[in-house]
Amino acid sequence: MRRKWWLISLIGIVLVALGSFIFLTRPLRTNERSRPAQHNQIKEQQATPKKVRTAKPWIKLKRPLKLPILMYHSISTGNQLRVPKKQFAAEMTYLKDHHYRTLTTAEAIRALTTNQVPQKKVVWITLDDAYKDNLTHMLPVLERTRLHATINVITGFTHKKNHLSLAEMKQMQATGRVDFASHTVQHLDLSSLSATQQRQEMADSKAWLNHNLKQSTTMLCYPAGRNNATTRRLAKATGYQLALTTTEGFAQMKQGRYHLSRLRITPGMSTATFAALIQVTNQ
Ligand SMILES: [Zn+2]
Repeated sequence: MRRKWWLISLIGIVLVALGSFIFLTRPLRTNERSRPAQHNQIKEQQATPKKVRTAKPWIKLKRPLKLPILMYHSISTGNQLRVPKKQFAAEMTYLKDHHYRTLTTAEAIRALTTNQVPQKKVVWITLDDAYKDNLTHMLPVLERTRLHATINVITGFTHKKNHLSLAEMKQMQATGRVDFASHTVQHLDLSSLSATQQRQEMADSKAWLNHNLKQSTTMLCYPAGRNNATTRRLAKATGYQLALTTTEGFAQMKQGRYHLSRLRITPGMSTATFAALIQVTNQ
């Protein structure tokens, strides 16, 4: 009898010990498995803040901003709308050497609408019509000087020989040196069109750019600067945040955000004339 009890007790102890062992080792294994993951998470959390550069706060201006918006077209030779590559390169070098900040479309909208600037010397470079030489002649200059420009695209012209194709625009977009805005579908004088036709020109070009360049298109440039009260009302109604004309001068919000002036850069202009043209003191 005694021996039987002893045997039963022994089996009991073994079973309890086995049960405890299984019970204790289970959570331990889970912990071990999750530990490396936690380690990685901690590493990632520590690594992320180092990569994020804290953006400098923008400067709030006391007086309304006067923004030089440069207007170029083709970077080549031949007529009054074409600026030779050598001249364009000299102008970009001037901007770089004199520490100008070239704004993106988003930055220009922020600057004009909040009256703040990332730094005192700012300029917005725009090129109308999206000529193919913007890729072959302009982009290399922007890459070298590390500046930025905005190209105003006639979306119905992207299959034409002298204009940028969609593939070329995507290639330029990928460099981060260029962004794209609307210059309508067919480059017609908007002020001579019916409201329906105007709306179509504005909305269709916007939709084309949004879809093909995966962006939200916020700026409209009027063909030949032509616009009327209906144009400006529709520019707002079709979702643009501002629009550019060819009226000569610095852009100021008092002109109306759908009627902003620009500075035409003409062929043969000396760098000194260029420097004087864009010179403005914002405070
Ligand atoms: Zn144009």
